Amino acid sequence: MVVGEDCFMLLPQTKLDRLLGDRTAKAFARHLGLVTVADLLQHYPRRYAVRGDLTPIAEVPIGEPVTVVAEIVDFKERRMSGKTSHLLEVRITDGSAFLTLTFFNQAWRQKDLKPGARGLFAGKIGAFNGRLQLAHPEYELFDDEVDSAEASRWALQPIPIYPAASSVTTWAIGRAMAVVLDTLPALVDELPAEVVASENLLALDDAIRKIHQPAVAHDWQSARDTLRFHEAFLLQSALIQRKAQLAHLTTEVRAVATDGLLAEFDKALPFELTNGQRSVGNEILEDLASGHPMNRLLQGEVGSGKTLVALRAMLAVAESGGQSALIAPTEVLAAQHLASIRRTLGEALAAKLGLTLLTGSQNTAERKRALLQIVSGKAQLVVGTHALLADKVEFYDLAMVVIDEQHRFGVEQRETLRLKGRTAPHVLTMTATPIPRTLAVSVFGDLDISTLTELPAGRQAITSHVVQLSQPALIARTWSRVAEEVAKGHQVFVVCPRISETLDEAQPPLELDDLEELVDETNPKPRRPLAAVETMVEALRANPVLAGLTIEPMHGALASELKNVTMARFVAGEINVLVSTTVIEVGVDVPNATLMVVLDADRFGVSQLHQLRGRVGRGGNAGLCLMMTAAESGSLALERVRAVADTLDGFKLSEIDLELRGEGDVLGASQSGVRSGLRLLRVLRDADLIVRARQIASDLLTADPTLEKHPNLAETLSNLDAARQQNLSKG
Ligand code: ADP
Ligand code: MG
Repeated sequence: MVVGEDCFMLLPQTKLDRLLGDRTAKAFARHLGLVTVADLLQHYPRRYAVRGDLTPIAEVPIGEPVTVVAEIVDFKERRMSGKTSHLLEVRITDGSAFLTLTFFNQAWRQKDLKPGARGLFAGKIGAFNGRLQLAHPEYELFDDEVDSAEASRWALQPIPIYPAASSVTTWAIGRAMAVVLDTLPALVDELPAEVVASENLLALDDAIRKIHQPAVAHDWQSARDTLRFHEAFLLQSALIQRKAQLAHLTTEVRAVATDGLLAEFDKALPFELTNGQRSVGNEILEDLASGHPMNRLLQGEVGSGKTLVALRAMLAVAESGGQSALIAPTEVLAAQHLASIRRTLGEALAAKLGLTLLTGSQNTAERKRALLQIVSGKAQLVVGTHALLADKVEFYDLAMVVIDEQHRFGVEQRETLRLKGRTAPHVLTMTATPIPRTLAVSVFGDLDISTLTELPAGRQAITSHVVQLSQPALIARTWSRVAEEVAKGHQVFVVCPRISETLDEAQPPLELDDLEELVDETNPKPRRPLAAVETMVEALRANPVLAGLTIEPMHGALASELKNVTMARFVAGEINVLVSTTVIEVGVDVPNATLMVVLDADRFGVSQLHQLRGRVGRGGNAGLCLMMTAAESGSLALERVRAVADTLDGFKLSEIDLELRGEGDVLGASQSGVRSGLRLLRVLRDADLIVRARQIASDLLTADPTLEKHPNLAETLSNLDAARQQNLSKG
């Protein structure tokens, strides 16, 4: 982990071992990824528990957390199973009834727990042999007279509950936090005092302390609000700054002629451009001719024709003599792009432009040839995967980078590419996970945004249905539907969450803690194994309804040659049913595929389902998507699948998705293994706050562009930038 890598504030970068000792520090680093004081301080509680209102012992409910004020009556010691085990039982009373406290192997507590002492005891009430007991309660003994105000203060004090690991408990984190906070020098606030005042915020130092050690609920609430504002403000300041820096960069002017490559290509197109494709195309041409690097996000519904927009931009660049690179998130998709670009351009033009593929799994000879084409500038159009990011890949004149399916790409990776050109290349980022425009401006605040809202004419709608595993008739109907579709000459996707019963796709369907938690709570892990490609292929081949069909597997663990061959066979119509993981999630374009069956659909994210579904109904034929799930009626998991089945509106779905997933993915960072700096901020929930923070940041940076008058802010932002650079060189 890089020091300060996602430090959003001016927090001390002291290593934790200096304060906590080696062992503890190691455990914190290993299990929670916390290395520095800054890391620890930003490890915020997930929620807060309260010890509860004081309860008379006579009324304590079993299984509930309670706090009682009581006096110690007596205690008993017992040795259990030889000498190794020791049980201390302490009886307390509040006058209404008796209660037993039990401690295992904590004989030393006798010293504290003397008969006659009074105090507060908190814990969860259990019953043992018909007696009420509190096992390992928390307690605090009173010195002399009970101050009832003091007692109720203790009882109401929120107890932070941290995201913990089994070997590092929330209590251990709380104790470490206390050690660190005790020695912590006053924190520097990077927010200008006027903003702190006008926004009603706590000072940073106060907020950090109160989020970890609140005295009352109001403390952590206002601390959380303050820290949220910090995150929003710093993110927006960084984005605005970055945008301003980019605007200062200059690059070659790339203008296109009205009778050049692009014009010829347009003339030969077998269809009309949509209005959106035309106007976004013009925006891009203006960017290319502006002499400043473009930094544009193209968002558009699945099937809206983004690739064509990208290809036209690449042609414009080629016309000016420059190279473009199109980067796809998977090898399958890169190969698809290559094939469809070749088809669209025609062999002659593709050869003339030196259309070249570069992926990680090419053999040495292929790779060498590709690298040579690229460095010599003969390859004007390069299509590839992350392999294009490798240090060894040098371009002769990289003028534009197109990143397909942005949600798989980190901000950092975008930047790595930017560094590859002689002058800063133009960057076009495409995403089919659109977010509402106002929000997009805030989240992708360093980008210009274009949106394709219409689908090409003649596109058929996709119908979606949910099939619950508890409906055997519908399941049987699903498979006969597959047979019917194939009989009509069409093709079918069957999508599974797993490769085999022991193997997941490198990118598991569910990624973020948030979602896993939701799924866990409402939809316990099925006892039956999740559908897996390997098993499903066998099962379908053995299904009499599907007799005679060509059914083949497709997933990331196949040899890449086999992947290519399989995709090519599917495109050529030689395979009737492709049983696949999410490797076909994005971009795969087989117009003859009309039916998709998604197994264990609740195991996929909302956007992922929407993306998957976009693979059918791409030709002139109507598409059908059947989402099978074992999720129970009334579960949240079923709700999510229903939500996807009920709407084709990608904007709406991305809102639902955002709500469920948190923002790691929106910012792209989680994909590259770098945690997003956002801890408390949620793009949707905090949209107003983000817009507000952006306005304040923008006013401040307009008035003081070099941040001369705001040295603390300048330092934080430059730390952030340094961390970013470090991540780049690391990656
Ligand atoms: P996206 O990447 O936005 O999901 P694609 O670029 O893959 O969509 O386009 C989907 C399909 O639509 C492709 O087969 C493409 O050739 C076709 N297409 C693109 N633009 C048009 C258009 N203007 N009219 C008709 N078909 C189009
Ligand atoms: Mg696409």
